Amino acid sequence: MLERYSQDSLTFKKVEEILNSNLSDTLKSVASKVIKERPLSRDEIVYLLGLRDSAERKCLFDLASCVRHDNVGDTIFIKGIIEFSNYCKRDCLYCGIRASNKIPRYRMKEEEIVKTAIEAANCGVDTVILQSGEDPFYTTEMIERMIRKIRETTRRSVSLSIGERDPEEFAIFKEAGASKYLLKQETVNKKIFEMVHGDDYERRIFLIKTLVSLKYITGGGDIIGLPGQTLEDIADDIIFMREIGIKMAGIGPFIPARGTPLENYPVGSAEITLNAYACTRLMIPLIQLPATTALGTIDKNLQYRAFDAGCNVIMVNFTPDIYRSNYRIYDNKRKVEFYETVRDLSKMNRRLTTLVKTQSSS
Ligand code: SAM
Repeated sequence: MLERYSQDSLTFKKVEEILNSNLSDTLKSVASKVIKERPLSRDEIVYLLGLRDSAERKCLFDLASCVRHDNVGDTIFIKGIIEFSNYCKRDCLYCGIRASNKIPRYRMKEEEIVKTAIEAANCGVDTVILQSGEDPFYTTEMIERMIRKIRETTRRSVSLSIGERDPEEFAIFKEAGASKYLLKQETVNKKIFEMVHGDDYERRIFLIKTLVSLKYITGGGDIIGLPGQTLEDIADDIIFMREIGIKMAGIGPFIPARGTPLENYPVGSAEITLNAYACTRLMIPLIQLPATTALGTIDKNLQYRAFDAGCNVIMVNFTPDIYRSNYRIYDNKRKVEFYETVRDLSKMNRRLTTLVKTQSSS
């Protein structure tokens, strides 16, 4: 037995409980692999992703919560996202800001982005995430300058989610002070990727691996419920993320977006999404795992439920209101508001970082 899970650890106790229960042999095999820090097999992950029985799901979620507790603690990290441009040169079938969708477009100015980042930092977020469509209007120099200004003025971590850029640019952004980069694989199923995203499968995988090799805290992740996607595909996503050294994962259900080719396609399953969070925590115990806005768009309570399934991050939205409604990557996108989130999480007795300010003390 390795040190990580001593006999006093929550994980050890939970695993013992599972092994002595009437639960299925697969859950028992999963529990014994978790305690030995061995990866789950593809079949086991598929089984867990497909769980519907409430006792078995509770067992999975409790185990994931114990693994989170023993590896990264129970603090929920609040990150602030600024969606600074909804221009995108890509035409992903699922995305409401795809190039060919007729929506009002906006670009925030550099100073406005930095000012918004300072506001977010003053509220107490530990990371400022700059997100946009793939918008070449923002040159390497502009992004680099913004990272430096935000780092200088706030000292907070800067995370980028601006799509595919050249490896040289990744290196420049890292040098300027960005420590995290979110570039979801969306799906490792090449056929589905090429149908919904384009012909950049190899490049995207190469770029994600490049981010890992540049020592970014690299974020991967997928969309749950893409056309033709199976539980095996989702299991492959989780295995892929573990194998290449992903440290954050944005996993969210597909939500249809008006005006896109998938606008009438059904919403992704919230149950599978929650099961996927728990599996990801079991497979990558140290991962930063957001309870995603897409899940909260189906139902706010589901987003909070994700903290029972191994998640430990939430992204709150600091995009100025005049722009936010046009960052419509999918319909009815929930505004995850900072003070509301802090209030809700405090009511649920979730532990927050000491940086976080409540409304009355701000
Ligand atoms: N353009 C950048 C990129 O591709 O990495 C970042 C911005 S993109 C809008 C952020 C994420 O939104 C994507 O990685 C995708 O998973 C998610 N997304 C877009 N449309 C979605 C939809 N209809 N349902 C669920 N997630 C969606």
